[in-house]
Amino acid sequence: MQIARRRVIVGHLIVLAGGALIGWFYSHVDWGLLAAALLALGWNVRQLLVFEQAVREKNFRHFRYGEGIWSQLFSRFSYQRGQSKQYKKNYRRLVKEVRKSTNAMPDGGIILNNEFEILLCNKAAQRLAGFRRRQDKGQRVDNILRDPAFGAYLSSGDFKEGVEIRSSVDADGWLICRIVPYGADQLLLLIQDITERRRLTTTRREFVANASHELRSPLTVVSGYLDTMASDPDIPAHWGRPLEQMQAQANRMNKIVAELLELSRLEGAGAAPTDELIDVCGIIASVKKSMDGQSDVPEIRVECQSDAQLFGSNAEIESVIVNLLTNAIRYTPHDGQVTLRWAADEDGAELAVTDTGDGIEPEHIPRLTERFFRVDAGRSRDDGGVGLGLAIVKHILERHDSHLEIESQPGAGSRFSCHFGSDRVNVPSSKNFKHAQR
Ligand code: ADP
Repeated sequence: MQIARRRVIVGHLIVLAGGALIGWFYSHVDWGLLAAALLALGWNVRQLLVFEQAVREKNFRHFRYGEGIWSQLFSRFSYQRGQSKQYKKNYRRLVKEVRKSTNAMPDGGIILNNEFEILLCNKAAQRLAGFRRRQDKGQRVDNILRDPAFGAYLSSGDFKEGVEIRSSVDADGWLICRIVPYGADQLLLLIQDITERRRLTTTRREFVANASHELRSPLTVVSGYLDTMASDPDIPAHWGRPLEQMQAQANRMNKIVAELLELSRLEGAGAAPTDELIDVCGIIASVKKSMDGQSDVPEIRVECQSDAQLFGSNAEIESVIVNLLTNAIRYTPHDGQVTLRWAADEDGAELAVTDTGDGIEPEHIPRLTERFFRVDAGRSRDDGGVGLGLAIVKHILERHDSHLEIESQPGAGSRFSCHFGSDRVNVPSSKNFKHAQR
């Protein structure tokens, strides 16, 4: 290119010099220069027109390359044009591949902008949730997925977990929708069909409920006979100990069956009622009273800092308090302390049970609410624990739009707490509330 540039400059100078020389010969240098300049201009215009024609007709195959620097320009242009054609071809192939693979995905995928408007969706989204690729472009996604739970999910802005909704294309179908933000302002909505998973969960729940129900009657008979035999003075003395053990095991089985039935009921139930007002401080006081006077228990303190009431099920909230308090007592030495606290804040109210007991190793904490999980199964069994208490607590709290938080330090104690949002809490305007601290 460097040489061509030099050549074009030199060439034009020679033409001008030649023109000037001829003009001088005829005593008209200016005319000679003008004629040479016009000649150079004409040549350049001709090259430009040839180039323009080739671009216009998009026909570079029979294109006769220009001359001098024009020839280099033409060939470079033609080469870059060929390359950009190849890039376009590759890009189109890539887009096709991406589209093919996203269409092959069993889960629905929808790309949204930060206004939740649909930009693109795959075939599974059309099949699972009735999206239409062209017609729904630009629409807000909650115009298509009209389930109120999905609307609430979008407005919450909290996309750490997904939301389960009923399918709008299959009356028995269930979907889980999850938003994954990516890039600067785009969101990916993933939709998965969970109909089968839910069906299996329901089958399992019904199986456990039926089995527990069926076990109840024979157990009642066995327990009845054991009680009768235990109180019969004619039973030989050496049967005393075995009978005692059989009674203890029958009681334990009764407890397991009752708790499994309670769990099945809770799993199948929706949200807790909102028309029943619960006096949480009242429950705390009565539960504490029932524990008073028991020997070998740690000191129980009550900190009722608010007369806020809760909307929900009285019996279930009592079960939460009893379960947490029983555990705290069970895993705290006699010289330790257990505190029951109920306090309101700007966003609702918190219930907390704190103890100065054994504490829990961090790796066990995420598993505590699993059915039958016990950190020390042997000890828990000896203390009368069956490993279902915290699972029941978890389900009751979910029904009350709350969840269990567990903080613990091995050897220092634990804190089990749950927070209820203001929708679930009623704070009476009474100014005479007496701060209860015992
Ligand atoms: P369990 O009937 O065995 O107490 P839970 O479901 O109530 O069953 O509790 C599960 C496990 O969690 C218990 O076995 C125990 O290991 C642990 N745990 C619960 N509460 C406490 C606590 N306050 N301190 C230490 N460990 C606890």
